[in-house]
Amino acid sequence: MKYILALDQGTTSSRGIVFDERGAICGVAQKEFRQHFPQSGWVEHDAEEIWQTQLETARQAIKNARVAARHIAAIGITNQRETTVVWERSTGRPIANAIVWQDRRTAPVTERLKRDGVEAHVSRITGLVLDPYFSATKIAWILDHVPGARARAEKGELAAGTVDTWLLWKLTGGAVHATDVTNASRTSLMNLRAQAWDPELLKLFDVPASVLPEIRACDATFGVAPAELFGAEVPIRAMVGDQQAALFGQLCTRPGMAKNTFGTGCFMLMQVGEQAVDSRNHLLSTMAWKRGDAAATYAIEGSVFVGGSAIQWLRDGLGIIRSAPDVNALASSVPDADGVMMVPAFTGLGAPHWDPTARGVIVGISRGTKAAHIARATLEGIAHQVADLMQAMTADAGKALDVLRVDGGASASDMLMQMQADLLGVPVERPKVVESTAQGAAFMAGLAVGVWSDPSQIEHIRRIDRTFAPVWSADRRSAARAQWQRAIERSRRWDEGKAGT
Ligand code: ADP
Repeated sequence: MKYILALDQGTTSSRGIVFDERGAICGVAQKEFRQHFPQSGWVEHDAEEIWQTQLETARQAIKNARVAARHIAAIGITNQRETTVVWERSTGRPIANAIVWQDRRTAPVTERLKRDGVEAHVSRITGLVLDPYFSATKIAWILDHVPGARARAEKGELAAGTVDTWLLWKLTGGAVHATDVTNASRTSLMNLRAQAWDPELLKLFDVPASVLPEIRACDATFGVAPAELFGAEVPIRAMVGDQQAALFGQLCTRPGMAKNTFGTGCFMLMQVGEQAVDSRNHLLSTMAWKRGDAAATYAIEGSVFVGGSAIQWLRDGLGIIRSAPDVNALASSVPDADGVMMVPAFTGLGAPHWDPTARGVIVGISRGTKAAHIARATLEGIAHQVADLMQAMTADAGKALDVLRVDGGASASDMLMQMQADLLGVPVERPKVVESTAQGAAFMAGLAVGVWSDPSQIEHIRRIDRTFAPVWSADRRSAARAQWQRAIERSRRWDEGKAGT
């Protein structure tokens, strides 16, 4: 039996997972790390802690799987995207905390660039909008705020990268400074079609080429983790950003196939084939993956900021449930939401609405409204947001979806999945293993070293847990969707002109 070690470096925890050649999980370890919020809107991680927790959990996962390190054929890395680290080449020491994807400190920079009228240009090259979310402005911020950093960068003394690049540097003892096309596509510095750093964008965002890693395919020969780390030398044969890894783990290997991850937020990606698609519906155009010498594969992506975290709000904010899974019993204690609608726009609305001033609303409350109706409306609110994404996506792709593949913590809710199928009018398919992200990195690495010869071989080992077929009539669906549009209107622009401005 051959094994693959997946390193799944997330926003709140690092995980190591050992998969066998049937795609089954044989050992897992997980460790949370600290979130730093030095100022309002700022989010940082200690990059050393990311590395330490990742190393520990990888070692523990191997132990838990009871496999000898020499039987591990390859390592696949998947990671929180956009989060940025800058470190010293000579010591491998970070010069500042990592700036996390959620961090908004560089908003003034992207606002200025928008006023300068360059957004359409940036978007044409990168597929992205101008937003502090992406790495470019984060790298420049560190170089401009750590004393002496910019001068050191110009001299070639500093290295920068997203979390994949940082982990690779640490795993190879500083021998390799590289990234993969999916992570590079989230920096705002890469030409999406050429998969190369764009000199004009480097100038625009004020990032010196000297700090940037080399861009490779997702299944490139990235380097070797030495025997001191895991007990035997293990080649690193895959790097892929978390959402793209999930798309691959869900085996969305043909154009038009899509997955949605129901986590804290919701992330939907649709594979669109070998040509990047410029979204006309406010979605992002991004890399899906690139394997070997084959042409690159592209995706369109949309995200909902508040997904499963709306359920956590029912628990922590309202106190109407004790744990997240309790939402299902409460919501199913009533036959419907009795006209109540909930738009969980707690931090504004993401794609395709893009309204940072929107706030959450609950509408349609009457004298008979109970906690159960609000719980049900909350689940429906998550499903409606995902339906909004899918509508934009199918409009961009020019083609309807056959099935939506799902994963993530909240995909455990049968009720939410049934609502999703009903609101989409499309079947929702939940696999047995919902660890699609780690699985995607493991599949990519396993294919690279010949554990599997091609993706069709993996299709045989992917098991479906349950398919939720839509049961609503088209009329009922369009009535519900129209009602949702009215609720969304009420959430929009709520925070605009706050304090009389
Ligand atoms: P992330 O990777 O973004 O941290 P997860 O994929 O672990 O998130 O999903 C966590 C979310 O799933 C939580 O917001 C929680 O509310 C939700 N969740 C977990 N279990 C259930 C369940 N049985 N029913 C509904 N929601 C659930």
